[in-house]
Amino acid sequence: MSREVIIGVDLGASKILSGIGTSDGQILQKTKQLTPHGNASSVIDLIADNILEWIKIAEAQHDSVKGIAVAVPGPVTYPGAVIEDSPNLGWQRVEFKEELSRRLGRPVVVDKDTNLAALGEYHFGQDRKYTHLLYLTVSTGVGGGIIINDRLYHGWRGGGGEFGHMVIDASGAECSCGRRGCLEAVASGTAVTKQIEALIKAGRGQNITACGCGSAVGAPELGKAARKGDPEALKLIKELGQNLGIGIANLVHLFNPQIVVIGGGVMIGLGDLLLEPIKEYVGEKAFPLHRRDLIIETTTLGNDIGLYGCIAAIAHGYKEICDLGDV
Ligand SMILES: [Zn+2]
Repeated sequence: MSREVIIGVDLGASKILSGIGTSDGQILQKTKQLTPHGNASSVIDLIADNILEWIKIAEAQHDSVKGIAVAVPGPVTYPGAVIEDSPNLGWQRVEFKEELSRRLGRPVVVDKDTNLAALGEYHFGQDRKYTHLLYLTVSTGVGGGIIINDRLYHGWRGGGGEFGHMVIDASGAECSCGRRGCLEAVASGTAVTKQIEALIKAGRGQNITACGCGSAVGAPELGKAARKGDPEALKLIKELGQNLGIGIANLVHLFNPQIVVIGGGVMIGLGDLLLEPIKEYVGEKAFPLHRRDLIIETTTLGNDIGLYGCIAAIAHGYKEICDLGDV
């Protein structure tokens, strides 16, 4: 029986996840490959080849391709999907959507990875629809996506949702953006690694390093040590949770969402160890109006959330779910 399928690609700084799925949110097949260190053009070539391969697979199974969507690291303009000065990819002003659709000879939807993740969460992560949903990713960096009134909010030029660069401690750690105390600088995978390094330098954190296999120690080792009851690891996670709580309380006051969903490798890896201090902080510090019935939870879509977002964007009509008209 022939089906309609959707092709999704999640371009990350270190890997490219791509796959094929159906409108009801099932991923049928997926594959992961390393992002080549090359110029933008060679990476776009690779993604185009990848998509053409998925089209062949679909055709061999007599499926028709309903659409193609690609999630890319930000900042990305909207609606043109030009990748502007991406710190993760090291690209500047790459007309990604135009370049890719020209290579494929067909239209593609391209949006910021965290925006599409928010859409994925909105459509497939929850049992019911929450009209006001915020998505926050805590991985190497911190980013976000905003659903307001059932629409994906991009801001004027596409720059909305840069939650990671909200300053929460003006005298805090230096951020990659040049400022101090951004949420990303104090509560991300990169921040965790730096905090553990500082601990080790001070002659502490032995139980955390003992959980590592070599020199690189980060959030996974922190989680292992904390689960064994190591007080230093538990303290670091609590501080991480509090910092995320400060950021989320700010967001909750700005957007008054029904639900905040948190994803990303650090969040998924630490799970309830990290979720509890976040909920505790927001539960205590947010205004009663804002915290009443507020749901804060970890995504159930795991690391495939970007792919789910691509599927959601095509399945539910990208134009209709965005804040602007034609794209
Ligand atoms: Zn910053």
